[in-house]
Amino acid sequence: MIDVYIGLGSNLEHPIEQIKQARTAISDQANISEIKFSSLYRSPPMGPQDQPDYVNAVMSVSTSLTALEVLRVLQQIEKDFGRVRKGERWGARTLDLDLLLYADQQINVPDLMVPHIGLSERAFVMYPLAEIVPEYFVVPGKNTVKQLLDQCPLNGLVKLV
Ligand code: ADP
Ligand code: MG
Repeated sequence: MIDVYIGLGSNLEHPIEQIKQARTAISDQANISEIKFSSLYRSPPMGPQDQPDYVNAVMSVSTSLTALEVLRVLQQIEKDFGRVRKGERWGARTLDLDLLLYADQQINVPDLMVPHIGLSERAFVMYPLAEIVPEYFVVPGKNTVKQLLDQCPLNGLVKLV
């Protein structure tokens, strides 16, 4: 079994509910079981600013699936949740599921880059991730989570209670 980290984000159609239901949809998969789930966070949008704030969280799961199989599962769930892929990068979405980490592997194939691009600079990934891993946890090819967090400003990130 492989430990996998997944980033969840939503900024449309009741984001908190989207995230909670996405958590259930992921945990309900036959070959995936939840290990931990972070707090929910609110963050200002990256890129285009004419869209609502995001709600973000990170979860860890254990799986027997390959990394590409996990990606396909996440993309199917995004689709089931009504996400419409428009051309615009970083545009508003009901649900965004990113494969952040797949064990300690570094993967670079056309459809999949792991660790997820920008992971270590994005507060809305690093702070929830830091909640559910030990301080000495190493992001493959980078640094420990503690060291990365020290260099990662909050950028408006707020933890929701
Ligand atoms: P973003 O999350 O950057 O806003 P999308 O969710 O629309 O963008 O994803 C765009 C593409 O990113 C997908 O077609 C997918 O194949 C690719 N991709 C590459 N690496 C990953 C990853 N680690 N997790 C999720 N998608 C990824
Ligand atoms: Mg994505």
